[in-house]
Amino acid sequence: MANLSFFNTLGRHLEPFAPIVAGEVKLYTCGPTVYSHVHIGNLRTFLFEDLLRRTLEHFGYRVLHVMNLTDVDDKTIRGALEHGVSLAAYTAPYIESFFADLDALHVRRAEIYPRATAHVPEMIALVEQLIERGHAYESDGSVWFRIGSDDDYGRLSGFDLAEARRGDRVASDEYEKEDVRDFVLWKAAKAGEPSWDSPWGPGRPGWHIECSAMSMKYLGERLDIHCGGVDNIFPHHENEIAQSESATGVPFVRTWMHSEHLVVDGEKMSKSLGNQFTLADLSARGCSLRAVRYLMLSVHYRQKLNFTFPALDAASAALRRIDDFRFRLAHAPEAGAGDAALANASAAFVERFDACLMDDLNAAGALGALFDWVREGNSAIDRGLGVGDRERALASLARAEAVFGVLDAASWSTGEEASDEAAIVALVEEREQARRRRDWAAADRLRAELDALAVVVEDTPQGPRWKRR
Ligand code: AMP
Ligand code: ZN
Repeated sequence: MANLSFFNTLGRHLEPFAPIVAGEVKLYTCGPTVYSHVHIGNLRTFLFEDLLRRTLEHFGYRVLHVMNLTDVDDKTIRGALEHGVSLAAYTAPYIESFFADLDALHVRRAEIYPRATAHVPEMIALVEQLIERGHAYESDGSVWFRIGSDDDYGRLSGFDLAEARRGDRVASDEYEKEDVRDFVLWKAAKAGEPSWDSPWGPGRPGWHIECSAMSMKYLGERLDIHCGGVDNIFPHHENEIAQSESATGVPFVRTWMHSEHLVVDGEKMSKSLGNQFTLADLSARGCSLRAVRYLMLSVHYRQKLNFTFPALDAASAALRRIDDFRFRLAHAPEAGAGDAALANASAAFVERFDACLMDDLNAAGALGALFDWVREGNSAIDRGLGVGDRERALASLARAEAVFGVLDAASWSTGEEASDEAAIVALVEEREQARRRRDWAAADRLRAELDALAVVVEDTPQGPRWKRR
């Protein structure tokens, strides 16, 4: 099996990746809080997780991926109350749009998307286990995690418990707790809020316990990889570790991976700045979602991603280079023996591409290898392809496509556009034949037809190239 290395937030170092069971990866990623449409920052994190999943599969791992849907928390409850609808009615459209966004960006589906509201009994059982073991206590119908009972608390985030002073009066909190640092596992019901029956009276789960309960239900007590955005490190993931390990006594997660945030024009997204985009906002502006996927994947996941419209244009230009190459490859005549230089370049490409991905998902490096190879490929086409070169080059491209999911224009066009494209390719080809026959009248007529389809043809020494106007 390939030697992958990932940067583990736990310990903050790059380390070899080895799953608990050889060849199988248990992956948990924190899903959206479905109180509004996800924004492109959330999608950056989901795309990083998609790249991780595809990379693991590329290297032969079987992945069992669970992503939760947080459909009960302060924000979803507030939204439902404000709109005077049930929690389920309030969250349903956001769950639907979340899946539509994943599909629009060609994100591979996780195996399981558990909803918090469907797992309250599991959460209650976990809280009971924590109480039994002395790690939690009930107070006024709520249950708190006793942070002083966990000597390891702070290992993930570097949070220093000693610095947060013990016994400070809990200032504004409605709930009574022993220690200001304790965090809530179960919240007593407030009037008008949705609630579930529990041994401590009606209430609802805290956010952190949701992920501990759902991840362990589907993946077991020990996970290989747990992901989220950097804002999840503290307190959410720190608290997940505290809850899970205090309940089971075994290490919860081997590798913690966190993606850096997306910013827009160098600034944090916020409603007040008007720079918080959803995917629908970008579509309405006419942005290519394929370019969005490319841009998001082309920046290393541990670097901030600065989303700008010029960067999106650059992503489209990069994709056009690939599309041009694929088009030339499809139409280049083949004769004689295979091109040895192309074969060497392809072997080097495959090796460099894999090495980059193995090195903490260096997607930018892998794409760099791809473009170097495309340059070699174009030169080979100029020289004239040998028999079999096309098929071999297309296989190398398909290998890279399995990881990136963005390199094949055909899979991004709607059925209509795809058939449109086939028609354009046929017309371009027909016109080229006419030119070869020196039938200028026919060539002109065909150019006019293409013009009517808003397609511009450029004749180059390597043959015709076309693009949409
Ligand atoms: P939430 O719906 O707030 O729970 O967030 C869902 C996921 O998106 C979490 O993994 C967050 O860490 C991540 N996330 C939130 N904001 C951003 C951002 N600006 N850039 C990247 N990821 C983000
Ligand atoms: Zn979570």
